[in-house]
Amino acid sequence: MLLKDKVAIVTGGKQGIGLGIVLALAKEGCNVVVSDLQQKGCEAAVKEAEKLGVKGLAVACDVSKKEEVDKMVGEAVKKFGKLDILVNNAGIFPFVPFADMKEADWDKVLDVNLKSVFLCCQAAAKQMKEGGKIVSISSIASIVGFEGLVHYCASKGGINGMTRAMALELAPKKINVNAVGPGAIDTPGAQGGSEEQDKQTIAAIPWHRKGVPEDIANAVVFLVSEKADYITGQILVVDGGWTLR
Ligand code: NAP
Repeated sequence: MLLKDKVAIVTGGKQGIGLGIVLALAKEGCNVVVSDLQQKGCEAAVKEAEKLGVKGLAVACDVSKKEEVDKMVGEAVKKFGKLDILVNNAGIFPFVPFADMKEADWDKVLDVNLKSVFLCCQAAAKQMKEGGKIVSISSIASIVGFEGLVHYCASKGGINGMTRAMALELAPKKINVNAVGPGAIDTPGAQGGSEEQDKQTIAAIPWHRKGVPEDIANAVVFLVSEKADYITGQILVVDGGWTLR
């Protein structure tokens, strides 16, 4: 087991990519703090993880709010006595044409997707000892453009920049800071497109399929394990080759 007796926080962990990460970490022996907006969803995910033989903790937390983030990290450390891993996964991707985008639309996406990473990393890094690992879920939208997602692309580009800068500042403490950039992944949050849009997406992906949460979770498990001790400040794209051409 790669992560036996480690302790990880996963934000937005009740469904989709976050839940995939929670279960993949648990399979490697990692105790998991599942955080999401609603307590009930967190508890259901913890139940699933505990079936794999680890301990869990459910903590409702809006990651865009500093008091709630500080409380989440505090509760994690109170229960487990330490914090080894933070996975910044919570994120939203509401499509809004640029011309119609309101200031409130911009603020909401930047607060949930980017300010949250600042808040969670700062609170978590204070608790981490040498060997701590931080991974943020960015997106291929950080490196290529998508119509209707100007705010989202900005937020994910911001994560890439923060990842490199935090990696430098946390290097003296030997805390690794990396990001994973998913392509199109089948999750509850990514439903709603037409059949035609789905066909076009799949046709653009050299691997000829959408990703599943496990594809992202496998990359996260690697980056938070000792096998990635010498990797920091990197953005690992996991997209079936979508952005290669
Ligand atoms: P998802 O199915 O919508 O799951 C996201 C989870 O985050 C939900 O449980 C959601 O809760 C929660 N959340 C939303 N706002 C939050 C907040 N303020 N505080 C705490 N939790 C919050 O999304 P997903 O597709 O798994 O995406 C997960 C991450 O991967 C996101 O950062 C996303 O940008 C990134 N990503 C996804 C894809 C993709 O194709 N799916 C591609 C690239 C990157 P509610 O359900 O209650 O809103």
